[in-house]
Amino acid sequence: MSVGVFNLDIKGNKWDLDREKCIKCGACVAVCPFTALELPEFPEVNEKCIFCNICAMACPVDAIKVVKTNKSAVVDKSTKDISTLSKM
Ligand code: SF4
Ligand code: SF4
Repeated sequence: MSVGVFNLDIKGNKWDLDREKCIKCGACVAVCPFTALELPEFPEVNEKCIFCNICAMACPVDAIKVVKTNKSAVVDKSTKDISTLSKM
């Protein structure tokens, strides 16, 4: 379940899109490693975002601003349950 927005703020960590600058090229969506962006028209960010800044670096017109001030606010650890199986 993902709800895309143009501005995400999770306890001080922010992702902001400037729709005046955005040319809807989709580069940000293509590079996001966490499928946190969708492009229905303008790119929209969802709660999967970990504020890594990769999309902002890929944007050719500097339309995305990412601020990460609170590392503990991001809960994105896909913890693997590693069970040790002993073969008989
Ligand atoms: S900051 Fe990182 S995780 Fe968030 S939308 Fe951009 S590339 Fe994806
Ligand atoms: S990379 Fe920049 S210009 Fe392209 S869709 Fe994303 S925000 Fe808009």
